[in-house]
Amino acid sequence: MKLTAELVPSTVWYSSLYRLLPTEVWNKLREEIIRENGRKCQICSETEGKMKLHEIWNYDDKHHIQRLDGFILLCAMCHHVKHIGMAKILADEGKLDYTEVERHFCKVNGCSEKEFAEHVDNAFKTWQERSQHKWVQDFGAYGKYLKK
Ligand SMILES: [Zn+2]
Repeated sequence: MKLTAELVPSTVWYSSLYRLLPTEVWNKLREEIIRENGRKCQICSETEGKMKLHEIWNYDDKHHIQRLDGFILLCAMCHHVKHIGMAKILADEGKLDYTEVERHFCKVNGCSEKEFAEHVDNAFKTWQERSQHKWVQDFGAYGKYLKK
C-alpha cells in the first residue's frame, strides 16, 4: 500500500523531532525538503494546500528501538491517514469529515472501504502492542538538529 496509517506508540508521543526542535529550526528543515522535492505531497502528488512535514519512524519491535529514517512532505489528507487516531478525534469533534479521509485512502491505494477498515484495525492493534513498551529513540542523522 502506498499510503498507510502509522500510529506513534503513546510512550513516545511527546518525543518527536517536531516537539523537541525550536519552531524555526523545524520550519527551516521543512523549507529544505520543499526545495529538494518541490511543494507537493510525496505520496499522492497533491499540490494544493499547506504541506505537512512528516517524520518517518522505523520500529524495531524486538529491541524496542524507534529510529528516525527521514521526512516526507504530505498533503493534509495523507497526513490525516498517517495520524488516523488524531483524525478520529477531530472527526468526533466535528472538525474533520472522516469519510473524506477514508475516501482519500481508498483512492490513493486503489482499495475498498473494507480494506481501509482492516488496515485501520491493524494499525490500532500494532499501536496497542507498541504502547506497552518503552522505546529507545534513535534520531540518526537528524540528532544533530537537537544540539543546535
Ligand atoms: Zn497526499
